[in-house]
Amino acid sequence: MTDNNGRVALVSGASRGIGRAVAQRLAADGFDISFCYRSDEKAADELEKELVGLGVRVLARRVDVSDSEAVRSWVGDTEQFGPIELAVTSAGITRDGPLVKMPDQDWRAVMDTNLDGVFHVGRSVVFPMMKRRRGSVIAISSVSGVYGLATQTNYSASKAGVIGFVKAMAKEVGRYGIKVNAVAPGMIETDMTEALTAQARAKLLAGIPLGRFGTAAEVADMVAYLASPGAAYVTGSVLEIHGGISI
Ligand code: NAP
Repeated sequence: MTDNNGRVALVSGASRGIGRAVAQRLAADGFDISFCYRSDEKAADELEKELVGLGVRVLARRVDVSDSEAVRSWVGDTEQFGPIELAVTSAGITRDGPLVKMPDQDWRAVMDTNLDGVFHVGRSVVFPMMKRRRGSVIAISSVSGVYGLATQTNYSASKAGVIGFVKAMAKEVGRYGIKVNAVAPGMIETDMTEALTAQARAKLLAGIPLGRFGTAAEVADMVAYLASPGAAYVTGSVLEIHGGISI
């Protein structure tokens, strides 16, 4: 174990994919973990058992991050473990489609989860962090929010919004010793990218110099770096991890 023993990390959207890998990595690094998920109870139960097996305290909660009161209550209940040291927002969805046919509900759903969800978590954790004069918030954005991706106007806008949120929050709370950063992954092997057609996958792969999609564990490594003392002077940053897709 590490110096993180007894420290509390909150992770949104951890039943699957990147959030799950982040929860696994932070627990392995010694953090107590409070994680939420939207609906996949089976996956959440499995993760809870796995993390408990690592010897850390675990709170698993079904919370829709678009519901501000539910997030507030989850954050409050997490504080039974002690002050939240680190909050990682990974809950996210896609509803891709051409702008010309984008239904209102697909725009709204993506904003509600991807952008409002980050606002709800950030607002709920920040005041206790300000009082303690320490804390770290890491939001999972996307290369789609940095560079834009066709058929993802809703998703790109939400993820660009997350970057704006992170930079503004970093400026606002830096003097309280709180760090706020974004991680912007490219194509990562999870259920989200599993939904791609073979044709879309081949086209994306052709634009990745490293010639493969990344793994959730590789994104979790970057989160673990941002959570480590080695990143003490890193705030307001957007760390990209994409195998060179943007070059
Ligand atoms: P994923 O495999 O589809 O997993 C999404 C996770 O978020 C699940 O745990 C899901 O819970 C949870 N979730 C979704 N909506 C939620 C809500 N409203 N409230 C609470 N939890 C919610 O997705 P992923 O690929 O790991 O993506 C994780 C994050 O990385 C997202 O923000 C995504 O935009 C971002 N990202 C992913 C990629 C990629 O290539 N995969 C690239 C760039 C950025 P349930 O299991 O209960 O549904």
